[in-house]
Amino acid sequence: MAQLTDDCFAFGGALLRLAEAQARVAELFAPVVEAETIKLASAVGRVLAADIHAPLDLPPYANSAVDGYAFRHADLTPGGETMLPISGRHAAGQLPGTVPAGHATRIFTGAVLPGGLDTVMMQEDSELDGDSVRLPAGLKRGANARPAGEDIATGALALAAGRRLMPPDLALLAGLGIAEISVRKPLRVTVFSTGDELIEPPSPLRPGRIYDANRAMLLGLLARLGAETIDGGILPDRRDSTSVALREAATHSDLIFTSGGVSTGEEDHVRAAITEAGALEFWRVGIKPGRPVALGQIGGVPLLGLPGNPVAALVTFSALGRPLFDRLSGAIYTPPPKLLARAAFAYRKKTGRLEYVRVTIDSEGVAHRFPKEGAGIITSLTEGHALMLLPEEMTQLHPGDVAPIIPLGLLHG
Ligand code: AMP
Ligand code: MG
Repeated sequence: MAQLTDDCFAFGGALLRLAEAQARVAELFAPVVEAETIKLASAVGRVLAADIHAPLDLPPYANSAVDGYAFRHADLTPGGETMLPISGRHAAGQLPGTVPAGHATRIFTGAVLPGGLDTVMMQEDSELDGDSVRLPAGLKRGANARPAGEDIATGALALAAGRRLMPPDLALLAGLGIAEISVRKPLRVTVFSTGDELIEPPSPLRPGRIYDANRAMLLGLLARLGAETIDGGILPDRRDSTSVALREAATHSDLIFTSGGVSTGEEDHVRAAITEAGALEFWRVGIKPGRPVALGQIGGVPLLGLPGNPVAALVTFSALGRPLFDRLSGAIYTPPPKLLARAAFAYRKKTGRLEYVRVTIDSEGVAHRFPKEGAGIITSLTEGHALMLLPEEMTQLHPGDVAPIIPLGLLHG
């Protein structure tokens, strides 16, 4: 897109760096939802309200990691093969019997290691000879044995308060025998779209109109984060009705999102409506796509005004909406992990803004720029693979340069 103004300063001042905007979010707001106790089965996506320490060792007892023969390592002939008489049979779920010194026992995966036994030979590596087992040399003490507490020991921190629970977290908690946990109540989040051009599917499209794409995406992003979502519908491009709607939403929401209408055009009324109904904290952030994005409060309820273009709405949701949502939810915000990819393309940019370039990753792991660039190109989100992150100070990316990427799937995970 041809740009005639130095857009870093086009809005009358330097842009706020994303890191500063995120820090401001953390400073201004605190968790707003109380704790409740729920069953583990319904805990995915919920935020732990308190630290959880392991109430027991995991695994609770030393056991065999394989099917084979267990014995005392001290009974092996150093440097040579050993024959040990077999005494007993130990399967998972059984109480362990005793195994006399100088003997081995048949053992199966998950079975308790009988007292004194410390090492297991896999059945594939052992050879039966009558009532004895032939064990080749070279096995280390403790091989194929899982000590008690190897995974986590009694009293150790299993999961910290503020963690958003994912299915493996449930495996850890269930493995520790925990059936109920204290989590934060869900945030109530209202989502509005703004724009006289927007139509709600499936109403018939009219000339000059487009369907509202953002609300479905934002409600979906929030649902995946465990929010109680409230669909605020579409607001017309009018300051007065927008400020009335925002004020009303603030009476029954913990957080409000809007999209569209935050730029500097005459038809952009969201910032003015925020100022009228509450207070504006900032609205110029140095990210592309995404500038401008407005943070405000209405009666103490935070509101993030996202840009209207769907790609910009997703990027700003991820960069600022998610940290804000997490802060209010009592969750510890962890930015998506940045992986690295080699760029196949050249890219020039201005300093002072962080750019998210949509890329596809080929089978060699090389990043190619998505062929269509516009911030309104929704297929760049459905067909693209990742966002390449080009930091504020960078001005030029050369083909062959390695840069961080965030897989798109992690933006909505
Ligand atoms: P605005 O910031 O309101 O000027 O919007 C920027 C661009 O995003 C315009 O082309 C709008 O038509 C488009 N847009 C705004 N809101 C939505 C939406 N909810 N769904 C799809 N496109 C939108
Ligand atoms: Mg608009």
